[in-house]
Formats: sequence, C-alpha cells, structure tokens
Amino acid sequence: MKTIGLIGGMSWESTIPYYRIINEAVKDRLGGLHSAKIILYSVEFDEIERCQSSGDWEKSGGILGRAAQGLEAAGADFLLICTNTMHKVAPQIASMVHIPILHIADAAAGALEQHRVRRVGLLGTKYTMTQDFYKQRLTDRGIDVLIPDEADIDLVNDVIFHELCVGELKDASRREFQRIIGRLAERGAEGVILGCTEIGLLIHQADSPLPVFDTTLIHARRAAELALDG
Ligand code: GLU
Repeated sequence: MKTIGLIGGMSWESTIPYYRIINEAVKDRLGGLHSAKIILYSVEFDEIERCQSSGDWEKSGGILGRAAQGLEAAGADFLLICTNTMHKVAPQIASMVHIPILHIADAAAGALEQHRVRRVGLLGTKYTMTQDFYKQRLTDRGIDVLIPDEADIDLVNDVIFHELCVGELKDASRREFQRIIGRLAERGAEGVILGCTEIGLLIHQADSPLPVFDTTLIHARRAAELALDG
C-alpha cells in the first residue's frame, strides 16, 4: 500500500472528512483492521487566506511547497492538496517535490466523465469560480462549466469563508445554495461540482436538485484507489 501525503488545514473542518473517507474506502476494499497509510501536514489557514486576499499566491505556494517537501521526506508516495482553491499554486508546489500530486480537478473530471456529464455547474470560492486554473482543466477535457452570476458568486464565497470554514452550518445558507443550484439547472447544467472542500458539509445529494459531485469525497476516494492499486 502506498503512503498518502495530505496538505490539509484549508480549512481543518474539511480535512477531517478526508481522513475518514480515505480510511473508509480502504476498509471497504480490504476489510478487517485495514486502514490507510496517511501523513498529514495541516497548515495555519489564516496565513494562507491572507496570501489569497492580498494576491500573494507565490508566498502561499512557497508555504505549501515546503509542507509538501516535509511530507515527501516523511515517506509520502503521492500528495493531495485538500482544497480546490490552492490548486492555483499546484504547479509551484509540484516543482518543489519529486512525488506526484493527485489534482482535485482531474479527479472531479474523471467522476463527471464516468457519469457522462458534459455540462456542469461549479460552486467554490470566488477564485475557483472566476479564474481559469481550475475551470480550464475541465474544459480541456470537453466539459462545459457554468458559474453563478456575480451576486451569487459573492454569496457562495462569503458562506465558505465566514460560515463553513469556521464550522457554522446554517439552514438559510443551505436554502440559498439550493436556489443557486436550481438556477444552474435551468441554464442547462446536468450536475453540480461542489468545488470547495467545505461545501459537502452543508449540501448533500438529498438537498440538491442536480446530481452533486463532491470534490472532497471524489478526491479522497481516488486517493484510496491510487494507494491500493498504484
Ligand atoms: N477549502 C476550500 C476550497 O476547496 C476553500 C478554502 C481555501 O481557500 O483554500 O477551495
């Protein structure tokens, strides 16, 4: 079994499910007392968020790159960055280590292809929804990506940083997300990517008018498969 290196803590609320989902997937496959080999480097999220809001992505990439080097030195065979947003600096992190990174957008694209979804809504931070580093990865694979309008982009981003990342789950926000997913469905989306690792804490399949593609679940399960199958 390969050893999985997790760069987590962005936020820690969403890193907890990674640990559980990976271990559940290994247990499902191997049974008994089997569990995953995991090394976690959990960063100080306030420091990372300050880099995001000031636009100093290179600094945040350096912090995460050094975390990645620590995981490599500790014996990780491959890495997961446990946030969609920070994949903006995935190339910088990759350039600092010799082990591969399992890209979260590639894992999401694989799941969409499996379900033959060609047109998808994307919910995430404003960085993930409006910039190209993530969406391009999907469009390169022939998947059409729809994002909410400007006001709803701000709403989703605010809920992520001011509620979900600090452990607050509010019914009113869940209803807003349902409304936004409904609008994406009206515009032709066949599914919705929960493209922020905290959204799955608030929205489950039963809450959504569209099939949900929860990146935390997809990324973590793919990691378990890779650890077991190479
Ligand atoms: N966990 C979130 C994501 O998947 C947002 C936190 C961050 O900005 O890294 O994008």
